[in-house]
Amino acid sequence: MPGERKIVVIGAGIAGLCAAVYARKCGYAVELVEQHDRAGGLATSWRRGDYVFETCMHWLVGSRPGGVLHAEWQEVCEIDSLRFVDHDEFLRIEDERGAQLCIYTDVGRLEAELLSVGPEDENEIRHLTKAVRQLVDLPMPPIGESGLARLASMFRMLPDLPLVWRLAHISLGDYGLRFRNPLLRSFFRDGATPNLSALALILSLAWMSGRNAGYAIGGSQALIRSVVDRLQALGGTIRYEIRVERILVENDTACGVVLDSGEIVPADWVISAADGHATLHALLGGRYHDPAFDKAFAHYEAFPSYVQVSLGLARPLSGEPGYLTLRAESPFEVDPLTRLDALAFRIFNYDPTFAPAGKTAVACFLPTRNSAWWAGLRHDDATAYQAAKHRAAEAVIEVLGRRLPGVRDDIEIVDVSTPATVIRFTGNWQGSMEGWLMTPETGFGTLPQTLPHLKRFLMAGHWVQPGGGLPSGLMTARSAVQAICREDHVVFA
Ligand SMILES: Cc1cc2nc3c(=O)[nH]c(=O)nc-3n(C[C@H](O)[C@H](O)[C@H](O)COP(=O)(O)OP(=O)(O)OC[C@H]3O[C@@H](n4cnc5c(N)ncnc54)[C@H](O)[C@@H]3O)c2cc1C
Repeated sequence: MPGERKIVVIGAGIAGLCAAVYARKCGYAVELVEQHDRAGGLATSWRRGDYVFETCMHWLVGSRPGGVLHAEWQEVCEIDSLRFVDHDEFLRIEDERGAQLCIYTDVGRLEAELLSVGPEDENEIRHLTKAVRQLVDLPMPPIGESGLARLASMFRMLPDLPLVWRLAHISLGDYGLRFRNPLLRSFFRDGATPNLSALALILSLAWMSGRNAGYAIGGSQALIRSVVDRLQALGGTIRYEIRVERILVENDTACGVVLDSGEIVPADWVISAADGHATLHALLGGRYHDPAFDKAFAHYEAFPSYVQVSLGLARPLSGEPGYLTLRAESPFEVDPLTRLDALAFRIFNYDPTFAPAGKTAVACFLPTRNSAWWAGLRHDDATAYQAAKHRAAEAVIEVLGRRLPGVRDDIEIVDVSTPATVIRFTGNWQGSMEGWLMTPETGFGTLPQTLPHLKRFLMAGHWVQPGGGLPSGLMTARSAVQAICREDHVVFA
């Protein structure tokens, strides 16, 4: 009977939490083990004085009732009790000479703005906005479905497949070359992920224009709290501050986990929603291989890690855009291997839960692929590590000060996290912020959730679905539990 069967889930990020909820709903006993003292993994924020500093949520696909993925979020949390903000202006890019480009979420307004900034690119602009309009309600690709359900999902996607295929197989860097206007080019090419498929960006614009990618007030932890509440209401338990050291395998069958205390937790199934590299190499000791993962770890590109400089400002900043990219006159040095042409600031003037009235939480994200340098510095030389953090903060404040004169005087809190922080708190490979990048090489596909020759084991989370993000946690958790139900002949509830 499923009621007597037990699933151990490793990691209480969004994927592990969703897996635990689905497992409970299908009648399994669940034990969710998390190394940190709270749930969320990368979907987190932290309080410093009067301020809360968010790291994850820019948007949540599935925020609109009736929109793509909304029904699935309803399965795991009270999504309708979250309050979403749909920005009119998603992003503003400015250079230091005063030129600016606004990326509006309304596609008509976006088209008008792009045409006014880069009339020489009219043809490409019209292609872009046509694609955004077409993809507004694109269903998510089916994962974990079989038989008729899979066919039906593919059929729904059929009219859009040629466009999806074309956009999935061109990188943002190459897509940007189609534009002659320097600001338009920079919008596509300036980021830290020029190999990202153009599809990923254009889909985001489409979801935002369909008001189905809102920002949840309270940030990512508001979503996480809602999933944790659902899990607890279903009788699920989370054990915090406990590390899984090893997945127990007998006769090529996963049968539990060994915790850092030495305790053995037996189980009928193990779902790892922890980091993909650590799962395969540390938790399973490198004994089980899948060619798809071997290829991914050898050739795919992961999302970068990041330094986050967070500032608590005693200023309202109410007229400023929520997301502001400042193009620098000269490259900005993050660490010995990383130079950026632009700095991205998130100005949380739209989230009253992050600062008292009249004050604003601001975060600057500095992507870097040099996580080994940051982790090494933290480990080997605490003074040099603090100095590097201080340098990053000073340089960010300098750039912001040119845009918001006098801002230094309003700073009440400075907080710097680094790739070493990401690795310490979430264990993500190379401190990656989102797992595998969706690139022309990965296309729209997913990685396997099971491993050849290993029974009763599944993986979930952003390391099995290129493109990552909170939806990847939801979707891969859902398909993992569906697969378990199929094998146990249990109806997926
Ligand atoms: C700066 C930033 C911005 C982002 N913006 C967005 C956005 O706007 N929208 C969006 O949808 N997504 C966004 N993302 C991506 C999103 O946060 C992640 O893709 C998603 O949260 C990953 O969830 P996960 O459960 O797969 O992995 P994780 O969040 O990494 O969770 C894994 C969990 O496993 C635990 N764990 C690891 N090893 C062990 C072990 N041995 N024992 C016990 N526990 C273990 C970790 O502590 C962690 O809690 C953003 C991410 C970042 C960093």
